[in-house]
Amino acid sequence: MAITVVGSIAFDTVATPFGRRERMVGGAATHFALAASFFDEARVVGPVGDDFDEAALALLSTRETNTDDVERVAGGKSFFWAGEYGWDLNSRETLDTQLGVFEAFQPKLSAASRQADVLFLANIQPALQRDVLEQCEGPRLVALDSMNLWIETARADLLDVISRGVDCLVLNDAELRQLTRRPSLVGAAREALTWGLSAVVAKQGEYGAALLTADGFFALPAYPLESVVDPTGAGDTFAGGFVGYLSRHLDRLDDEATLRRAMAYGTALASFNVEEFGTDRVARLEADELHERVADLQQMTHFDHARVELAR
Ligand code: AMP
Repeated sequence: MAITVVGSIAFDTVATPFGRRERMVGGAATHFALAASFFDEARVVGPVGDDFDEAALALLSTRETNTDDVERVAGGKSFFWAGEYGWDLNSRETLDTQLGVFEAFQPKLSAASRQADVLFLANIQPALQRDVLEQCEGPRLVALDSMNLWIETARADLLDVISRGVDCLVLNDAELRQLTRRPSLVGAAREALTWGLSAVVAKQGEYGAALLTADGFFALPAYPLESVVDPTGAGDTFAGGFVGYLSRHLDRLDDEATLRRAMAYGTALASFNVEEFGTDRVARLEADELHERVADLQQMTHFDHARVELAR
Protein backbone atom coordinates (compact mmCIF):
# COMPACT_ATOMS: atom_id res chain seq x y z
CA MET A 1 0.00 0.00 0.00
CA ALA A 2 1.13 3.55 -0.53
CA ILE A 3 0.37 7.12 0.41
CA THR A 4 0.63 9.75 -2.32
CA VAL A 5 1.33 13.28 -1.11
CA VAL A 6 1.40 16.54 -3.03
CA GLY A 7 2.53 19.70 -1.28
CA SER A 8 5.45 22.07 -1.05
CA ILE A 9 8.96 20.65 -1.29
CA ALA A 10 10.96 23.62 -0.13
CA PHE A 11 13.96 25.37 1.23
CA ASP A 12 13.14 27.10 4.51
CA THR A 13 14.99 29.88 6.28
CA VAL A 14 13.86 29.96 9.89
CA ALA A 15 14.68 32.24 12.80
CA THR A 16 13.58 31.30 16.32
CA PRO A 17 14.77 32.63 19.69
CA PHE A 18 17.19 29.68 19.65
CA GLY A 19 18.95 30.40 16.41
CA ARG A 20 18.65 30.83 12.71
CA ARG A 21 19.03 28.35 9.86
CA GLU A 22 19.29 29.16 6.18
CA ARG A 23 17.78 27.07 3.40
CA MET A 24 17.03 23.87 5.28
CA VAL A 25 15.15 21.22 3.33
CA GLY A 26 11.51 21.69 4.29
CA GLY A 27 8.06 22.03 2.83
CA ALA A 28 4.75 20.51 3.78
CA ALA A 29 5.18 17.37 1.65
CA THR A 30 8.68 16.79 3.03
CA HIS A 31 7.64 16.97 6.68
CA PHE A 32 4.59 14.84 5.95
CA ALA A 33 6.58 12.13 4.14
CA LEU A 34 9.23 11.93 6.86
CA ALA A 35 6.48 11.01 9.33
CA ALA A 36 4.16 8.95 7.10
CA SER A 37 7.05 6.78 5.90
CA PHE A 38 7.12 5.07 9.30
CA PHE A 39 3.83 3.41 8.38
CA ASP A 40 3.72 2.91 4.62
CA GLU A 41 5.44 3.81 1.39
CA ALA A 42 5.14 7.57 0.88
CA ARG A 43 5.20 8.82 -2.72
CA VAL A 44 5.95 12.52 -3.06
CA VAL A 45 4.60 14.49 -6.02
CA GLY A 46 5.96 17.94 -6.82
CA PRO A 47 8.65 19.93 -8.60
CA VAL A 48 12.07 21.10 -7.43
CA GLY A 49 14.64 23.35 -9.11
CA ASP A 50 18.29 22.60 -9.94
CA ASP A 51 19.12 24.02 -6.51
CA PHE A 52 17.65 20.84 -4.96
CA ASP A 53 20.84 18.80 -4.80
CA GLU A 54 21.53 15.11 -4.15
CA ALA A 55 21.75 15.63 -0.39
CA ALA A 56 18.31 17.27 -0.38
CA LEU A 57 16.86 14.43 -2.43
CA ALA A 58 18.47 11.88 -0.12
CA LEU A 59 16.78 13.53 2.87
CA LEU A 60 13.43 13.46 1.09
CA SER A 61 14.01 9.75 0.44
CA THR A 62 14.38 8.94 4.16
CA ARG A 63 12.73 5.62 5.11
CA GLU A 64 12.43 4.79 1.42
CA THR A 65 10.07 7.58 0.49
CA ASN A 66 9.55 7.29 -3.24
CA THR A 67 10.62 10.33 -5.27
CA ASP A 68 9.83 9.06 -8.80
CA ASP A 69 7.23 11.84 -9.13
CA VAL A 70 9.53 14.60 -7.93
CA GLU A 71 10.18 16.53 -11.12
CA ARG A 72 13.45 18.43 -11.46
CA VAL A 73 12.84 21.58 -13.49
CA ALA A 74 15.97 22.65 -15.35
CA GLY A 75 16.74 26.31 -14.70
CA GLY A 76 14.01 26.49 -12.06
CA LYS A 77 14.13 27.50 -8.41
CA SER A 78 12.68 25.38 -5.62
CA PHE A 79 9.86 26.72 -3.43
CA PHE A 80 11.35 29.01 -0.79
CA TRP A 81 9.83 30.09 2.52
CA ALA A 82 11.25 32.27 5.30
CA GLY A 83 9.69 32.77 8.70
CA GLU A 84 10.45 34.14 12.12
CA TYR A 85 9.03 33.12 15.49
CA GLY A 86 8.34 35.26 18.56
CA TRP A 87 9.92 34.49 21.94
CA ASP A 88 7.29 31.97 23.05
CA LEU A 89 7.16 30.33 19.59
CA ASN A 90 3.38 30.77 19.39
CA SER A 91 3.48 33.62 16.93
CA ARG A 92 5.09 33.31 13.54
CA GLU A 93 5.61 35.87 10.83
CA THR A 94 6.09 34.81 7.23
CA LEU A 95 8.90 36.95 5.79
CA ASP A 96 9.00 35.52 2.29
CA THR A 97 7.19 32.96 0.11
CA GLN A 98 8.50 32.21 -3.38
CA LEU A 99 6.54 29.56 -5.26
CA GLY A 100 9.33 29.11 -7.83
CA VAL A 101 8.79 25.92 -9.83
CA PHE A 102 5.34 25.40 -8.25
CA GLU A 103 4.01 28.40 -10.17
CA ALA A 104 3.83 26.64 -13.52
CA PHE A 105 3.77 23.04 -12.25
CA GLN A 106 1.46 20.61 -14.03
CA PRO A 107 1.48 17.32 -12.17
CA LYS A 108 1.65 14.09 -14.14
CA LEU A 109 1.39 11.23 -11.70
CA SER A 110 2.94 7.83 -12.35
CA ALA A 111 0.56 4.86 -12.37
CA ALA A 112 1.76 3.81 -8.90
CA SER A 113 1.01 7.25 -7.41
CA ARG A 114 -2.40 7.40 -9.08
CA GLN A 115 -3.30 4.02 -7.65
CA ALA A 116 -2.26 4.69 -4.04
CA ASP A 117 -4.97 3.87 -1.48
CA VAL A 118 -4.31 7.05 0.45
CA LEU A 119 -3.90 10.60 -0.82
CA PHE A 120 -2.72 13.54 1.25
CA LEU A 121 -3.22 16.97 -0.27
CA ALA A 122 -0.68 18.88 1.78
CA ASN A 123 -0.48 22.64 1.82
CA ILE A 124 -0.06 24.07 -1.70
CA GLN A 125 -2.20 25.97 -4.23
CA PRO A 126 -5.70 24.40 -4.17
CA ALA A 127 -5.70 24.18 -7.99
CA LEU A 128 -2.72 21.80 -7.78
CA GLN A 129 -4.40 19.79 -5.03
CA ARG A 130 -7.44 19.41 -7.32
CA ASP A 131 -5.31 18.42 -10.28
CA VAL A 132 -3.68 15.62 -8.28
CA LEU A 133 -6.98 14.47 -6.75
CA GLU A 134 -8.52 14.25 -10.23
CA GLN A 135 -5.66 12.02 -11.45
CA CYS A 136 -5.97 9.56 -8.57
CA GLU A 137 -7.95 6.40 -9.13
CA GLY A 138 -10.43 5.93 -6.30
CA PRO A 139 -8.26 6.40 -3.19
CA ARG A 140 -9.88 4.96 -0.04
CA LEU A 141 -8.81 7.89 2.12
CA VAL A 142 -8.22 11.50 1.06
CA ALA A 143 -7.07 14.10 3.61
CA LEU A 144 -6.33 17.77 3.01
CA ASP A 145 -4.40 20.58 4.69
CA SER A 146 -4.25 24.23 3.67
CA MET A 147 -3.42 27.62 5.15
CA ASN A 148 -4.57 31.22 5.53
CA LEU A 149 -2.82 32.35 2.32
CA TRP A 150 -4.89 29.97 0.18
CA ILE A 151 -8.10 30.56 2.17
CA GLU A 152 -7.67 34.27 1.47
CA THR A 153 -6.58 34.06 -2.17
CA ALA A 154 -8.23 30.87 -3.49
CA ARG A 155 -11.16 30.02 -1.19
CA ALA A 156 -13.51 28.97 -4.01
CA ASP A 157 -10.88 26.57 -5.40
CA LEU A 158 -10.29 25.17 -1.94
CA LEU A 159 -14.00 24.52 -1.31
CA ASP A 160 -14.19 22.95 -4.75
CA VAL A 161 -11.36 20.48 -3.99
CA ILE A 162 -12.97 19.56 -0.69
CA SER A 163 -16.29 18.86 -2.42
CA ARG A 164 -14.61 16.47 -4.88
CA GLY A 165 -14.10 13.66 -2.39
CA VAL A 166 -11.98 14.77 0.56
CA ASP A 167 -12.72 12.62 3.64
CA CYS A 168 -10.76 14.42 6.29
CA LEU A 169 -9.60 18.01 6.85
CA VAL A 170 -6.44 18.53 8.91
CA LEU A 171 -6.25 22.29 9.52
CA ASN A 172 -4.99 24.72 12.14
CA ASP A 173 -7.94 25.71 14.26
CA ALA A 174 -7.72 29.40 13.28
CA GLU A 175 -7.71 28.36 9.64
CA LEU A 176 -10.70 26.10 10.16
CA ARG A 177 -12.63 29.04 11.63
CA GLN A 178 -11.48 31.27 8.77
CA LEU A 179 -12.47 28.72 6.11
CA THR A 180 -15.91 27.99 7.58
CA ARG A 181 -16.49 31.57 8.77
CA ARG A 182 -17.63 30.18 12.13
CA PRO A 183 -16.11 31.62 15.32
CA SER A 184 -16.27 28.53 17.55
CA LEU A 185 -14.21 25.40 17.00
CA VAL A 186 -17.17 23.03 17.38
CA GLY A 187 -19.37 25.22 15.16
CA ALA A 188 -16.64 25.38 12.53
CA ALA A 189 -16.14 21.63 12.53
CA ARG A 190 -19.91 20.99 12.38
CA GLU A 191 -20.12 23.27 9.35
CA ALA A 192 -17.19 21.51 7.64
CA LEU A 193 -18.77 18.12 8.31
CA THR A 194 -21.76 19.18 6.18
CA TRP A 195 -19.40 19.39 3.17
CA GLY A 196 -19.19 15.60 2.81
CA LEU A 197 -16.24 15.06 5.16
CA SER A 198 -16.20 12.25 7.70
CA ALA A 199 -13.64 13.79 10.07
CA VAL A 200 -12.12 17.15 10.89
CA VAL A 201 -8.87 17.55 12.78
CA ALA A 202 -8.16 20.98 14.26
CA LYS A 203 -4.47 21.44 15.08
CA GLN A 204 -3.90 23.77 18.00
CA GLY A 205 -0.12 24.13 18.13
CA GLU A 206 1.29 23.74 21.61
CA TYR A 207 -2.24 23.07 22.92
CA GLY A 208 -2.59 19.84 20.94
CA ALA A 209 -5.19 18.75 18.45
CA ALA A 210 -8.90 17.97 18.40
CA LEU A 211 -10.79 15.41 16.31
CA LEU A 212 -14.42 15.98 15.42
CA THR A 213 -16.65 13.47 13.67
CA ALA A 214 -20.42 13.08 13.36
CA ASP A 215 -20.28 10.78 16.43
CA GLY A 216 -17.86 12.42 18.72
CA PHE A 217 -15.15 14.69 19.96
CA PHE A 218 -11.64 13.75 21.06
CA ALA A 219 -8.67 15.90 21.96
CA LEU A 220 -5.06 15.32 22.95
CA PRO A 221 -2.68 17.86 24.42
CA ALA A 222 0.66 18.34 22.74
CA TYR A 223 3.33 16.11 24.29
CA PRO A 224 4.82 18.23 27.09
CA LEU A 225 8.36 19.27 26.15
CA GLU A 226 10.66 21.43 28.17
CA SER A 227 12.49 22.75 25.19
CA VAL A 228 11.04 23.55 21.79
CA VAL A 229 13.50 24.77 19.18
CA ASP A 230 11.63 25.12 15.87
CA PRO A 231 7.90 24.49 15.38
CA THR A 232 8.12 24.65 11.56
CA GLY A 233 6.47 21.65 9.99
CA ALA A 234 4.86 20.38 13.19
CA GLY A 235 1.44 20.42 11.55
CA ASP A 236 2.64 18.47 8.52
CA THR A 237 4.48 15.99 10.72
CA PHE A 238 1.29 15.51 12.76
CA ALA A 239 -0.61 14.89 9.53
CA GLY A 240 2.02 12.35 8.42
CA GLY A 241 1.59 10.39 11.63
CA PHE A 242 -2.21 10.65 11.62
CA VAL A 243 -2.71 9.73 7.97
CA GLY A 244 0.14 7.20 8.04
CA TYR A 245 -1.47 5.31 10.92
CA LEU A 246 -4.85 5.33 9.16
CA SER A 247 -3.23 4.04 5.99
CA ARG A 248 -2.40 0.86 7.92
CA HIS A 249 -5.99 0.55 9.17
CA LEU A 250 -8.06 1.33 6.11
CA ASP A 251 -10.73 -1.22 6.98
CA ARG A 252 -11.37 0.58 10.28
CA LEU A 253 -11.71 4.18 9.18
CA ASP A 254 -15.16 4.50 10.73
CA ASP A 255 -13.93 3.23 14.10
CA GLU A 256 -13.52 6.10 16.56
CA ALA A 257 -10.82 4.20 18.54
CA THR A 258 -8.67 3.85 15.41
CA LEU A 259 -8.96 7.58 14.70
CA ARG A 260 -7.94 8.33 18.29
CA ARG A 261 -4.84 6.15 18.04
CA ALA A 262 -3.97 7.91 14.79
CA MET A 263 -4.19 11.22 16.71
CA ALA A 264 -1.72 9.85 19.25
CA TYR A 265 0.84 8.89 16.58
CA GLY A 266 0.44 12.30 14.94
CA THR A 267 0.91 14.06 18.27
CA ALA A 268 3.99 12.04 19.21
CA LEU A 269 5.62 12.58 15.83
CA ALA A 270 4.96 16.32 15.90
CA SER A 271 6.61 16.54 19.31
CA PHE A 272 9.85 15.11 17.93
CA ASN A 273 9.75 17.50 15.00
CA VAL A 274 9.82 20.63 17.17
CA GLU A 275 12.78 19.51 19.30
CA GLU A 276 15.32 20.47 16.64
CA PHE A 277 15.52 22.67 13.56
CA GLY A 278 13.79 21.59 10.37
CA THR A 279 13.72 17.89 9.65
CA ASP A 280 16.77 17.02 11.80
CA ARG A 281 15.04 15.11 14.59
CA VAL A 282 12.40 13.19 12.62
CA ALA A 283 14.93 12.19 9.96
CA ARG A 284 16.89 10.16 12.50
CA LEU A 285 13.96 9.10 14.70
CA GLU A 286 13.68 5.39 15.54
CA ALA A 287 10.41 3.47 15.67
CA ASP A 288 10.94 2.49 19.33
CA GLU A 289 11.27 6.12 20.40
CA LEU A 290 7.98 6.85 18.68
CA HIS A 291 6.14 3.94 20.33
CA GLU A 292 7.45 4.98 23.70
CA ARG A 293 6.13 8.52 23.35
CA VAL A 294 2.71 7.22 22.27
CA ALA A 295 2.64 5.04 25.40
CA ASP A 296 3.58 8.09 27.52
CA LEU A 297 0.73 10.06 25.97
CA GLN A 298 -1.71 7.29 26.76
CA GLN A 299 -0.62 7.23 30.36
CA MET A 300 -0.69 11.04 30.67
CA THR A 301 -4.19 11.47 29.31
CA HIS A 302 -5.91 8.63 31.17
CA PHE A 303 -7.89 9.23 34.36
CA ASP A 304 -10.28 7.19 36.46
CA HIS A 305 -13.63 8.65 37.28
CA ALA A 306 -15.02 8.14 40.79
CA ARG A 307 -18.20 10.03 41.48
CA VAL A 308 -17.95 12.27 44.53
CA GLU A 309 -20.92 13.52 46.57
CA LEU A 310 -21.41 17.23 45.89
CA ALA A 311 -23.46 19.90 47.61
CA ARG A 312 -26.84 20.59 46.04
P1 AMP B 1 3.73 24.35 9.28
O1 AMP B 1 4.75 24.83 10.28
O2 AMP B 1 3.14 23.02 9.61
O3 AMP B 1 2.70 25.40 8.98
O4 AMP B 1 4.50 24.10 7.90
C1 AMP B 1 5.59 24.87 7.52
C2 AMP B 1 6.05 24.38 6.15
O5 AMP B 1 5.11 24.81 5.17
C3 AMP B 1 7.40 24.96 5.77
O6 AMP B 1 8.32 23.89 5.59
C4 AMP B 1 7.16 25.74 4.48
O7 AMP B 1 8.08 25.43 3.47
C5 AMP B 1 5.76 25.34 4.05
N1 AMP B 1 4.98 26.49 3.60
C6 AMP B 1 4.97 27.75 4.10
N2 AMP B 1 4.13 28.54 3.41
C7 AMP B 1 3.59 27.78 2.43
C8 AMP B 1 2.65 28.00 1.37
N3 AMP B 1 2.10 29.20 1.15
N4 AMP B 1 2.29 26.96 0.57
C9 AMP B 1 2.84 25.76 0.78
N5 AMP B 1 3.75 25.48 1.75
C10 AMP B 1 4.12 26.46 2.57
